[in-house]
Amino acid sequence: MDTQLFSHQTLSTQTSSPSFTLAVAPAKVIRGSGVLSGAVAEIARLGSRPLIVTGKHIATVQQMQPLLEAQQLHPAQASYGADCCEASLKSLKKAAKEHKADAIVGVGGGKALDTAKLVAHQLELPVVTIPTSAATCAAWSALSNVYSPEGAFLYDVALSRCPDLLILDYDLIQTAPQRTLVAGIGDAIAKWYEASVSSGHLQQTLIIAAVQQARVLRDILLQKSTVALQQSGSEVWQEVVDATVLLAGVIGGLGGAQCRTVAAHAVHNGLTHVSGHSSIHGEKVAYGILVQLRLEETIQGNQLAATARQQLLKFYAEIGLPQKLADLGLGNITLSELQTAAEIALAPNSDIHRLPFKVALEQLMAAMVSTTAPTDSRDSTSRVLTRGIDEVEE
Ligand SMILES: [Zn+2]
Repeated sequence: MDTQLFSHQTLSTQTSSPSFTLAVAPAKVIRGSGVLSGAVAEIARLGSRPLIVTGKHIATVQQMQPLLEAQQLHPAQASYGADCCEASLKSLKKAAKEHKADAIVGVGGGKALDTAKLVAHQLELPVVTIPTSAATCAAWSALSNVYSPEGAFLYDVALSRCPDLLILDYDLIQTAPQRTLVAGIGDAIAKWYEASVSSGHLQQTLIIAAVQQARVLRDILLQKSTVALQQSGSEVWQEVVDATVLLAGVIGGLGGAQCRTVAAHAVHNGLTHVSGHSSIHGEKVAYGILVQLRLEETIQGNQLAATARQQLLKFYAEIGLPQKLADLGLGNITLSELQTAAEIALAPNSDIHRLPFKVALEQLMAAMVSTTAPTDSRDSTSRVLTRGIDEVEE
């Protein structure tokens, strides 16, 4: 008895978080072409008075309306407004209560889905996600990002579970602009560059599995993205959609809070404070990967990072991901805006501090304006600092 108690105590002190909850995956995923109409019956299992949260996808919701009514459901519809922001969350909770909603259905891109998931979480209602683009893994994940109404990133909220139902209808995804899938590829490929840095050294079984899945995801995207984008709707296109919407979500689910984002998302968060809505999430994250690699290269002297950055620059050129600030619509960024973005990326609670080295403000600013520099690392950093932004951003 004593021995058991002793070993239990020893174990507790060695484990950073003794209680362990994981939100790995949605309870059910329905995936295929034209599956939406058939999947409506599954929504009926979760509630009879769903509140549908959407943005500009009114047509899709209108198409669902008679199908929902045929299942004896009483749906109501509400917009998520300017962004997944506190004011929208407040008004949606009010709308849900007024409608006596017993389920929330999110229809749209990442922001609509994040809003729907967070409203459901706060009201303790079941939630269904119906992505209309492959731009993020928001349809899968147990996480919502909260922004200001102007689109500046504020904080994220860990949700108690993944969605109760995810309906991935390829026909719906195919109506989205190609740019959204390109952005989704950028957001998904970041999983490898961030998870390998934050968690590559960890020994927990599920985290090892998550990091390896991130590598598999990167390889799938490097191999299949170019062809997929040329052949919208094809089998390979569907595989890439699965990679960005589903497999990217698996990694966050398996890895949990410890398998977190690093500098790529921190740079994204900083940029949202100066760029507003001029570029979408995965585009800023993709650029953020280059900034992260540049930091590893210039501060740590990491040659592998230098090689990875050159490989990604080539890949980005092929599929149309942004390589530099000008590609994000920030060609005219002022030095003080650049500094603001870098300061936010370096905030004390930022995930950038998961890098295995310290980053100074001027080092980050230098990396942000030298994402396309040739590999000759340390020299070019000091050149960038003395030459200023304009000359580097051709
Ligand atoms: Zn992301």
